[in-house]
Parts: sequence; structure tokens; C-alpha cells
Amino acid sequence: MFKTALRNFVGEVFGNTCPGCQKVCSSVCKNCIAQLSDLTSSVSSPKFHNTNLHGALNQQVIVAFGYSTVVRKMILAIKYRNLRSSIALLGGALADRIFDETEKTQQMVSFITWAPTTTKRKLERGHDHAEILARFVARELKLPCRSVLRRLTDQPQTGRSREQRLTAPQFSSRAIDNQCVVVIDDVVTTGATLKGASQALYKSGANLVICAAVASTVLWQSSTESCVLAKARKSRR
Ligand SMILES: [Zn+2]
Repeated sequence: MFKTALRNFVGEVFGNTCPGCQKVCSSVCKNCIAQLSDLTSSVSSPKFHNTNLHGALNQQVIVAFGYSTVVRKMILAIKYRNLRSSIALLGGALADRIFDETEKTQQMVSFITWAPTTTKRKLERGHDHAEILARFVARELKLPCRSVLRRLTDQPQTGRSREQRLTAPQFSSRAIDNQCVVVIDDVVTTGATLKGASQALYKSGANLVICAAVASTVLWQSSTESCVLAKARKSRR
């Protein structure tokens, strides 16, 4: 009992905990790795998140995971505690998904970028988690990673109501001549952030913008709902 408490304390102090379950572990624990691979290998694993904001430009977002508890904890660990041990797993899975989709459509991607967080948040946390993810994905795909977007509205999306979130954050972009860009974010909920980012990229001359996110909240909700239904059906038999 005392030993466990001591180990947890040491783990907490030195950050040697699994970002998925907070168990003392030098990196992501075996159990969480298994949970993640279940999430990607299952038939109903998320592929796309459809955004439909204000009826305009219905865009598909490539996603790697549903926003399950373990994925959520890992993303929050990167975001708030700068714990990066799960980046290889999350970013690696997203890089695989982007590779599959762009290969299918024979798309030549010019570079990777990200939807930057607000300046206030970046100063508070000392890093931009979307940038960390984008840089990892770019390395995996052997593509350049470029910082081209700037957030014009400094309202963070976290903690806002659905209605507030639907007003897309505004971005501006450096000039992009006729290139295909992949823009990355951590979680897609309403799709407002990625939509704002891709609008700015198109305005600045991109010929194709591919949106990608590590996790989708909508897909997770729908997949868990279907699990509940399947369970209910089983219990009736
Ligand atoms: Zn774990």
C-alpha cells in the first residue's frame, strides 16, 4: 500500500506515468497500447468526421481515433502537462491514416501545417500541442512542416458552448501557390477550427486542403451509442 503510494508520488513528481491511465510507467503502458490498437483495428474504427457548418463546404476530416477515455487522457496530457510519451502512438496512427487516404487518391501533399492555438494559451502552456502533433506527423510522412496560419480571433474553443463553437475562429495564412496542404488539429468536435483554417488556406492560394485530426468526438459518441444498442439487443435474446 505504502509502496504503491510512494511509487505514484515519485511517478507524479518525475512525470513517469502512463498518460492514458496515470499508472507509474516510463511511457504508455501495455494496457493502453492494447486499447489503442483495438480502437484502430476494429471494423467500426473511425475513418472520417463529416463537418457541416452553416451548410457551407461540407468537409471530411481524416481521423485516427474516436475520443475515447484513453485517447482523451493522452491528448490532455500533451496539452496541459506537456507529457509527450503518447505522441508516437497518436501521431503515428494519424500519419498512417493520412498516408492511406492520400495514396488512394494519388494526392501529392506539399507540406503539413496546423491550426494554431490562441497566443494566450500558447504563452500559458509554453507550447502549442497542435504544432507538436503536426511536426511529428510531418517527420513520419517525410514531408516539410510549415507554420503558415495565424489565428485572428483570440477566443479559445475549449470551454465554449456548442453555439459559440459554431462561430468558426478566423485565421489568416501566408501565400501558398497552388499547393496541397494537410492541416492538423488534435480533436475535431464541430469542425469549426479546421474549417476556419482551411478557408484561410484556400483564400491564400492552396489548391487542396486536407483536414486531419487525432480524434473525433462525434464518431466516439456514435460508436459508443452503437455499442450500447448492440448490448441491449444481446440482453434481449
Ligand atoms: Zn496506461
